[in-house]
Amino acid sequence: QTLQVELAERSYPIYIGEGLLQQVAVLFRERGVSERNSLLIITDQHVAPLYLDGLRDRLAQAGYQVKSAVVAAGEQAKSFSVYEQLMTEAISAGLDRKSVILALGGGVIGDLAGFVAATYMRGIPFVQIPTTLLAHDSSVGGKVAINHSLGKNLIGAFHQPLMVIYDTAALHTLPEREKAAGFAEIIKHGLIADEAFVNWLEQNVDPLWTLQAGYIDKAIRQGCAIKANIVSADETEQGQRALLNLGHTFGHAFEALSRYAQLNHGEAIAIGMTLAAKLAERLGLAEAGIAVRTKKLLASYRLPTEWPTGFAPEQVLAAMKRDKKVVQGQLNLVLPRAIGQVEVVKAVDEQSVLQLMRDVQGGKD
Ligand code: NAD
Ligand code: ZN
Repeated sequence: QTLQVELAERSYPIYIGEGLLQQVAVLFRERGVSERNSLLIITDQHVAPLYLDGLRDRLAQAGYQVKSAVVAAGEQAKSFSVYEQLMTEAISAGLDRKSVILALGGGVIGDLAGFVAATYMRGIPFVQIPTTLLAHDSSVGGKVAINHSLGKNLIGAFHQPLMVIYDTAALHTLPEREKAAGFAEIIKHGLIADEAFVNWLEQNVDPLWTLQAGYIDKAIRQGCAIKANIVSADETEQGQRALLNLGHTFGHAFEALSRYAQLNHGEAIAIGMTLAAKLAERLGLAEAGIAVRTKKLLASYRLPTEWPTGFAPEQVLAAMKRDKKVVQGQLNLVLPRAIGQVEVVKAVDEQSVLQLMRDVQGGKD
């Protein structure tokens, strides 16, 4: 049942199941976190009223010293100022090198609290407790970061968690847009590596969208498994880990240009994956039909796939070139070859990308 991310001495388990938040203390003991380790829960203002007290009380009852810090919800929390504020809280709370940080929330909290853990006293352990569907992706793999106003995730580290505790019961309070965003990353994992999984996602939209037990946990498990396999093979992105960036160079550009306000991460990469599929067809890399199928699948999970209003293709291209995947000015993009198969295409012709974006914007593709 339990998935394992294999990374030699940094290997860790991913627990997925309904009601797991009730069992945190047991899981902590299993992983060697005892009452001698003080804990700091980091969460946001949306998640705190829903799940913070329950988690804190359960751990306190089990004998742990627990403190908590609540930050504003949203991408804006991945900033220097919030990071500094959390460092102040960690120091004031007296955290030492044996303390453990708990990231209770979505990908924003995972990235932010993980970066605090990675850098506090040169690194202390942390536990991912994802509460969004999207965080099935962000909680696995150890990439932690905050943003700079000039680009997303530009300040960060690789810091693997001690474990991931995924309580699927928490997903029922997610707003619809956030739920859709999570499906964008689940679909991404299928498109990258598993055609059978894509077929299954196409055939089971209703039970998945309504978070039916037996479906949603399976989708999370498969998404995490695909990610975990790639991370095990290439922890620090020297090679195949880059494949996980399908749709992300486009997506990050949309996110950065709108200052992380208009589109959320999942929505931005949904549009990005659609553009990547269209580009792959135009470049003769993938056969015709792949773009239509990609778009239809994303749309069935209520994700945007059309050109978003207010963005100029030239600006998007310029922002893409500021993405950290750009090396020596070359635009390298992950593009699909087929459903379930992608590759990194180096030095993609910028004019083709620009032309595609203009056509999509003008409704000509
Ligand atoms: P998020 O953390 O902002 O959560 C989305 C919204 O849902 C927030 O308003 C949050 O407060 C709220 N929320 C969270 N859980 C809830 C619940 N159970 N019920 C009700 N509301 C809830 O965003 P996200 O979509 O989870 O994550 C996006 C972030 O993840 C981005 O910053 C992205 O860069 C990052 N990310 C990182 C990686 C990685 O490998 N590190 C991978 C993918 C994405
Ligand atoms: Zn992503």
